[in-house]
Amino acid sequence: MRVTVLAGGVGAARFLDGLVRVLPPERVTVVGNVADDLDLLGLHVSPDLDTVLYTLAGVVEPERGWGRAGDTAHALGVVSQLGGPAWFYLSDRDLGLHLARSERLRAGEPLSAITLSLCTAFGVQVRLLPATDDRVRTVVSTPAGELDFQTYFVRRRHRDEVLAVRYEGATTAQPAPGVLDALAAADVVIVAPSNPFLSVDPILAVSGVRDAIAARSGPTVAVSPIVGGRAVKGPADRLLRTLAGESSPRAVAAHYDGLITHMLIDEADRELLPAIRALGLRAAAAPTLMPDAAARTRVAQAALELAGS
Ligand code: GDP
Repeated sequence: MRVTVLAGGVGAARFLDGLVRVLPPERVTVVGNVADDLDLLGLHVSPDLDTVLYTLAGVVEPERGWGRAGDTAHALGVVSQLGGPAWFYLSDRDLGLHLARSERLRAGEPLSAITLSLCTAFGVQVRLLPATDDRVRTVVSTPAGELDFQTYFVRRRHRDEVLAVRYEGATTAQPAPGVLDALAAADVVIVAPSNPFLSVDPILAVSGVRDAIAARSGPTVAVSPIVGGRAVKGPADRLLRTLAGESSPRAVAAHYDGLITHMLIDEADRELLPAIRALGLRAAAAPTLMPDAAARTRVAQAALELAGS
């Protein structure tokens, strides 16, 4: 069985960590969000791709779910001491990856080729593809004006109300090599439990991606990032309330209308199953919190079982 997963950062990485315990990793292709990428200190940083890479390589900081475990941040300390931008946390080993990747990008290599070779170097066997090699950037509209994604998310700690979101460059961006084929050839496509507006939509916005998923005849399963009406982490619940009218797995399912055929929701939201089925979807409820490997494996298993139903 071949599975392709649309992935943001932490929620997706936790799910993928379970999926590779259920399926041979070579059968899994990940289409990752790059609209959170940023240029900082002369470097290209790809936070969502790196969260997936570090998690699957077993070097991620486990509590936070992003960045490298047990690392120091001496270089960033010096940046701060010298009055440079130190608001985006970059640990020393993480910086090493950004240095190497940025050098290769400057030499003209596409992000997709670099990402595949990073996977090999880290012993990660899933095929991790950026949604696009082109520049796409999430821009959020707030009462304080338009903010670039990381200014909103990290620098201002996602406190601003989000009135609208746009994905600069997406309509002219081309899917990275392999993305459309991986969507067409997959037996199952899974939309990971990621932020619908900030992680998944910027992938869907890349030209051709949404159509490639809508055109599938096989199952496309979404796993809810909302548990008991709330995001497990981050602002997904607030964005759903403002932009979709309610924070619930039903609103997530409705948001993916026309794209998904199946929806896995949390046990805590079981009473919403009839409302989700009324949208024309097959749906199931299961525990979806993923603190450890056992829980992640069960969520991945539940998603695959639902896809086969
Ligand atoms: P980010 O770019 O790191 O914010 O990554 P994502 O968009 O992939 O992840 C954020 C989303 O993951 C949030 O909406 C969380 O609610 C969801 N999430 C994180 N951990 C879990 C979990 O254990 N279970 C479920 N169902 N969702 C989770």
